Amino acid sequence: MFRFTTIKDYHNNLQSGQTTVVEAVRFFVEAAKGGASLNAWLSIYEDEALVAAKQLDEHIRAGQPLLPLHGVIVGLKDVIAYKNHPLSAASKILENFQSIFDATVVEKLQAAGAIILGRQNCDEFAMGSSNENSAYGPVKNGIDPTRVPGGSSGGSAVAVQMNHCMISLGSDTGGSVRQPADFCGIVGLKPSYGRISRYGLIAYASSFDQIGIFAKSVTDVAAVLEIIAGSDAFDSTVSELPVPAYSAVVDEPTPKKRIAYFKEALEHPSLDPAIKAAIDTTIQSMQKAGYTVDAVSFDMLDLVVPTYYVLTTAEASSNLSRYDGVKFGHRSSAENKDLTALYKNARSEGFGKEVKRRIMLGTFVLSAGYFDAYFTKAQQIRKLLVDGATQLFKNYDAIILPTVPSPAFLIGDNAKDPVAMFLADIYTVYANLVGLPAISIPLYKHHSGLPFGLQVMCAPFEETTLLQLSTAIQKLHE
Ligand code: GLN
Repeated sequence: MFRFTTIKDYHNNLQSGQTTVVEAVRFFVEAAKGGASLNAWLSIYEDEALVAAKQLDEHIRAGQPLLPLHGVIVGLKDVIAYKNHPLSAASKILENFQSIFDATVVEKLQAAGAIILGRQNCDEFAMGSSNENSAYGPVKNGIDPTRVPGGSSGGSAVAVQMNHCMISLGSDTGGSVRQPADFCGIVGLKPSYGRISRYGLIAYASSFDQIGIFAKSVTDVAAVLEIIAGSDAFDSTVSELPVPAYSAVVDEPTPKKRIAYFKEALEHPSLDPAIKAAIDTTIQSMQKAGYTVDAVSFDMLDLVVPTYYVLTTAEASSNLSRYDGVKFGHRSSAENKDLTALYKNARSEGFGKEVKRRIMLGTFVLSAGYFDAYFTKAQQIRKLLVDGATQLFKNYDAIILPTVPSPAFLIGDNAKDPVAMFLADIYTVYANLVGLPAISIPLYKHHSGLPFGLQVMCAPFEETTLLQLSTAIQKLHE
């Protein structure tokens, strides 16, 4: 019977002939189909995956060396373009739309031998924290299907959680990889802004968006990151910095041991006491293990969520203006008496409630009368946050934080209160406002039986330190 632990073990088993890529594909397809009630997948490309698997098995039989991600089975959040395959951002407005090109990450994955298994459900246009905003219905948490998996990359998280694939790629604009990773008990990485090309990622808020990686282990995250990171002529915001061989060094001890945590974050009234207690224990065991772990004051904590929602809705209102029912996507069958009516009908019918709310909010904060009061102010706060982080990283190598204030909530519990849902992003949006790499690692179990994670952040482009520290902290918990 096929069993997956890590890419490294899988590769050893492929090389020794204990398993085949075809066997792996069959195993994951069966699991994904068996778990269909969780609603994690919008498409499964079984036949194509088997064709690719046979070719990859041929390579092995012919004695050729394994490719870096040989036969690694990957799922893509429905915001990542895969040529000649459906791409809808879980929105009715892109129903039946097929991508005409590959995202850079897809090209890189396939060149490294990975197999794309399918397209994963998410919140519409990646807006949400619970995966209840999908036009294709909510995704359910595999640990407890009455609970949300988190969002917006909920389908991607559940697919890894439930062994439907080895790796998922999601997108993280304000926590959409780390928060579902926390709720599902897996690893979720949001790299530094500019580490991975966004070419072929459907834009939500372009100065925040990053493609992120879900896996069961930090080592597997490292193995995928080193393949998909790096400069790209199609995205001028990607860094030219060389990509380190993350997977070769992820298990090495890091000399960087100065850790900060935000006092206000651990004292915040929204934080579940059991989560606070767990992180306090981690701080103590890190101190015992020789780390410097200091409380640092962060008096802007309550500003991060409002700042994030002003700026991201502004960017979203601009990015989503392209969905007008003219060139692609949903066109209303109602009588469109003029061009304005055509736009109005297409957008009213095509977008869901949360997306409309954000477009309106974004248009409002950008409107002439309110621009300075909201948009300019938020930009100024963002600058202060960036400056503060630059100062902090002169004295510290990393920041630790909770990922989310509480574990996975019940489906429907927060749906009627968007502000409560926004406020729960308090610990994740900071990394996107500043552009820091951040990861959620599954360390803990709540007394309710639900998993939750620890969030670690480092200075921009310090992914090596981030991954090494994560491995070290995980070892302290073994
Ligand atoms: N929950 C946040 C939001 O709704 C984050 C979403 C994301 O990272 N894509 O905007």
